[in-house]
Amino acid sequence: MASIFTRIVKGEIPCYQIAEDERYFAFLDINPLAKGHTLVIPKREIDYIFDIDDDTLAGMIVFAKKVAHAIEASVSCKRIGVAVLGLEVPHAHIHLVPLQTEADISF
Ligand code: 5GP
Repeated sequence: MASIFTRIVKGEIPCYQIAEDERYFAFLDINPLAKGHTLVIPKREIDYIFDIDDDTLAGMIVFAKKVAHAIEASVSCKRIGVAVLGLEVPHAHIHLVPLQTEADISF
C-alpha cells in the first residue's frame, strides 16, 4: 500500500505544497513544531533515508537547501533546524523547522 506521503504527492490527500521538482516534493507538516515546519521527501517511495541511493540522497539535500532558503525568506527565524526522525511515516523525509531560540524544540 502506498505511504501517506506518496498519496500526498499524487494529490489523493491534500497538503499545503511548498515546492516540487521532478524528483522531490516539499509540504507543510500537518502537526508543526513551528510555523513553516516543512517536510521534504523524494517522490519515489522508500522507507529508510539511508537506503536511498547516493545520487538521490545528494539531490534531496540540495533540494532541501533551496526550500530552507525559501522558508527563511517567508518566516522570521534564526535558522532552519534539520532533522531526520522517520518514526511515524515509512517514507523517507527531512524535517525543516524554523527556529527562533534554542528553547523552541525539544525532541
Ligand atoms: P516522523 O516519521 O519523522 O516521526 O514524523 C512524520 C511527520 O509527518 C510528523 O511530523 C507528522 O506531523 C507528519 N505527518 C503525518 N501525516 C501527515 C499528513 O497526512 N500530512 C502532513 N502534511 N504531515 C503529516
